[in-house]
Amino acid sequence: MAMVAKETTVEKVEKIEATENEKVKISIIPRFCKGCEICVKLCPTKVLGMEMFLVKVIDIDKCTACMACELRCPDFAIFVEKKK
Ligand code: SF4
Ligand code: SF4
Repeated sequence: MAMVAKETTVEKVEKIEATENEKVKISIIPRFCKGCEICVKLCPTKVLGMEMFLVKVIDIDKCTACMACELRCPDFAIFVEKKK
């Protein structure tokens, strides 16, 4: 009987922490965040903060979806989605 080699694929699903309200959704990939605080310092309305060296959403209702955090994160760890 011939042996058939089976290919095993491992799917990696990144853990995403999402916080949202009716206007905006902020998604953070904790594994990518190196805690540099760039986004925290850039956010003009103080939506973000740090907790245990990782970025956290502190007050989503203040988010204006300006995208500064997403655009300036060097590690692609934060994403902002503006809702209609
Ligand atoms: S800029 Fe990116 S890597 Fe730096 S704290 Fe914010 S989410 Fe994390
Ligand atoms: S999109 Fe703008 S207002 Fe919202 S968390 Fe990012 S930097 Fe702050």
